[in-house]
Amino acid sequence: MNPNSRGFYGQYGGSYIPETLSAPIEEIKEAFEKFKNEESFQADLSYWQKEYIGRATPLTYAERLTHFLGGPKIYLKREDLTHTGAHKINNTLGQILIAKRMGKKRIIAETGAGQHGVAVATVCALFGLSCTIYMGEDDTKRQRLNVYRMKLLGASVRPVTLGSRTLKDAINEAMRDWVTNIKNSYYLLGSALGPHPYPQMVTEFQSIIGREVKEQILKKEGRLPDQLIACVGGGSNAIGLFHPFLEDKDVSLIGVEAGGFGIKEKRHSARFEGGSVGIFQGTKTVILQDQFGQIEETESISAGLDYAGIGPLHCYLKEMGRAKYTYATDEEAMNAFSILSKMEGIIPALESSHAIAYIIKEAAHLSKDKIIVCNLSGRGDKDVETAILYSSKEEVNN
Ligand SMILES: *Cc1c(COP(=O)(O)O)cnc(C)c1O
Repeated sequence: MNPNSRGFYGQYGGSYIPETLSAPIEEIKEAFEKFKNEESFQADLSYWQKEYIGRATPLTYAERLTHFLGGPKIYLKREDLTHTGAHKINNTLGQILIAKRMGKKRIIAETGAGQHGVAVATVCALFGLSCTIYMGEDDTKRQRLNVYRMKLLGASVRPVTLGSRTLKDAINEAMRDWVTNIKNSYYLLGSALGPHPYPQMVTEFQSIIGREVKEQILKKEGRLPDQLIACVGGGSNAIGLFHPFLEDKDVSLIGVEAGGFGIKEKRHSARFEGGSVGIFQGTKTVILQDQFGQIEETESISAGLDYAGIGPLHCYLKEMGRAKYTYATDEEAMNAFSILSKMEGIIPALESSHAIAYIIKEAAHLSKDKIIVCNLSGRGDKDVETAILYSSKEEVNN
């Protein structure tokens, strides 16, 4: 499903940007339109997907988890096994190949959990481009190891001390940098968000996930799955899994947002639980805002889901009834983190643990002849410190 020529999916999306950014965004749009259909671009992309990212990633049957839950057959799409350990590299590789063809020498990006920053710094090192990463100061503390990784990869990391010192503030600063360095710089956005054509471009580069799943499940099971499940921050890993299945109406699509400490307490990042339509960071979408349109503080144990906005295509899919959205709390995600580790020997990212948490809650309601595929968007090594802190807090409370 593509947006209309102005970048809208129904009423969502579009491009709400300052005048100064309209020329460079137009330039990216034209480059993307041109290269995405070029055979040499696609060949280049496939080459690096295979030789560098390590694609195709496996679709692993989670046998012990399946038996433990006593419900449907559970498959895990192993984006945790990609180079750098999360799906984000699919997008950064695609976009840097475009930036290179546009003749750009410098890459700017924002990062929340640090996963996108690491994925950007990685491809910049691979292709020898200069790299500046903006990151909220709170996130630099939560994700110290990723900050070090980015620096090791040759990137310059700029901590942002404005606002809530998380992802949205980092995006604002990155945009500011871009406006002043438009000629030589390419802004590499990390999720299916922001002004057109980013949501479409990121969807395109992440759709490799769903395309592989389709081929793999047909080989293993001879049919399509009944449900696809993914966690939703900005929405890129979920849309990458869902997109190739949009026309397959018998496959239900379920996105899991971050319920944080609690929805009632208003300490969460679940945009579809109390969010409303607004314009935020270049796009019209559902956001967590107060009655005056001020962006609300969000909360989640996982930095990657801790964001007030969601990709516009998800809003449209929800409105059309094509996809359903729910949430898992911090507590449920931490429980899933531990269960998957023990049952399968796979430590999932805390983001992905939200999708697993949904399966743990719902498996009992689905019969054994059903097949579900969960996107394991990343590995959990980066989250071990957070998990230690969380469990020591739990002990104090008990
Ligand atoms: C960033 C991140 C997410 C959330 O981003 P989406 O754009 O919603 O996919 C999920 N999982 C992991 C491992 C991440 O690093």
